[in-house]
Amino acid sequence: MTRHHTYQYWDKPLETMPREDLAACQTALLRKAVSAALRTPFYRRALAQQGIRSEDAITSLSDLKRLPFTTKQDLRAGFPYGFLSIPREQVVRLHASSGTTGTPTTIYFSKEDLSRWTGFVARSIYGTGCNNTDVFQNMITYGLFTGGLGFHSGGEEVGMMVIPSGAGNTARQFRLMQDFGTTVLHATPSFLLHIESKMREEGVDRKNLRLKRAFAGAEPYSEDTRVRIEELLGIDVYNSYGLSEMNGPGVAFECQRKDGLHLWEDGFIPEIIRPDTLEPAAEGEIGELVLTCLCREATPILRYRTRDLTGFYGEPCKCGRSHRRIRRIKGRTDDMLIINGVNLFPSQIEEVIMAIKEVGANYLIVVEKDGALDRLTVKTEVNTQTFMDDTRPLNALKERIRKTLQASITINPKVELLESGSLPISEGKAARVLDSRPPAGG
Ligand code: AMP
Ligand code: ZN
Repeated sequence: MTRHHTYQYWDKPLETMPREDLAACQTALLRKAVSAALRTPFYRRALAQQGIRSEDAITSLSDLKRLPFTTKQDLRAGFPYGFLSIPREQVVRLHASSGTTGTPTTIYFSKEDLSRWTGFVARSIYGTGCNNTDVFQNMITYGLFTGGLGFHSGGEEVGMMVIPSGAGNTARQFRLMQDFGTTVLHATPSFLLHIESKMREEGVDRKNLRLKRAFAGAEPYSEDTRVRIEELLGIDVYNSYGLSEMNGPGVAFECQRKDGLHLWEDGFIPEIIRPDTLEPAAEGEIGELVLTCLCREATPILRYRTRDLTGFYGEPCKCGRSHRRIRRIKGRTDDMLIINGVNLFPSQIEEVIMAIKEVGANYLIVVEKDGALDRLTVKTEVNTQTFMDDTRPLNALKERIRKTLQASITINPKVELLESGSLPISEGKAARVLDSRPPAGG
């Protein structure tokens, strides 16, 4: 890991703005957001219930708590235009969330909204040390998903040469890297691990590539996974967090210190709440992230319950930015598994197995009913070098993984070792859990 003594800022006055000035800026933007919200059917009703009929009800940031929460269900119920606050003719683009079930949620952008979004992504990318000498291969899904076009525009804004390669097709990705001397990648962490194992299989030597750094996001991953990708590819990996309800990428991003993600507070107001009581979490406590969008007029969204679990850092970052940092996302309130009464987040399993060097690029968590009990199986690929014909070392490895897991999650899992490349690899967000138990109560 490189140590930086000088940091690169896209907009230093904005990124290092004193906290009082930031609060004043947020208050002014919140008034605008409330005024836009009042032009949508959903918020006109919801705000009126709180006695809010104009932006004049907002005079300081403490008025935020008078605003209603917004949930995914609210957005779905408002599909397709219930959250649109400007005339349809002023909308120049839409994106939709990747939610796998039910009605999609759609976000609309005006021209100004798009340029503000691009500004946040550019700021994030530039803050990791990129500039116009870089060649940026955007190995993520384009289309309705925001990761493709969001990073594409941000990369261009920084002046990098952008290769819109999209996700998948590893052979073509290697060719592009070689032909154009790619220096920067963007992908899901699972695709980065996959591409590295393919490289080794196909004998692509990373010393012949010019890779320097990668942005990894769109799904949770552990610090060990980051370190593993960094060591295998010989690059710096930066965590990128965003969600379509808040534009997409460019909500929170790691700076060159790689110690927490700066959440851009001139674009979003973050809160951390306890999901059961909806009360603010204690200082530093992990809870549900709630975000208010301050940078979009076409689709204002107030106090959105992201379901993502994280907490604030107490200390300001040594890079000098004043925008608060959040911790790596631990998981979502809705992906917690309850196994024989014990709560378990998939991220707890990843933390353990990715620290074991024989473990390969991909894994799958399977939960089934075994009579009245739940049974947890962790299927994990093993590095090609480790996968030998002699089964004795494999059995020992399996036992070591099982014991380490059990010590950490207090559940005794079954462990299955698989050859590298045998688990399905998804182009978008990885599906890590297969839970075949009948739904509770049904
Ligand atoms: P989408 O709206 O389809 O872009 O999905 C957004 C969701 O992806 C977020 O609410 C998170 O649950 C997840 N996500 C995005 N970036 C990250 C990240 N860096 N770490 C963990 N989860 C992430
Ligand atoms: Zn920083």
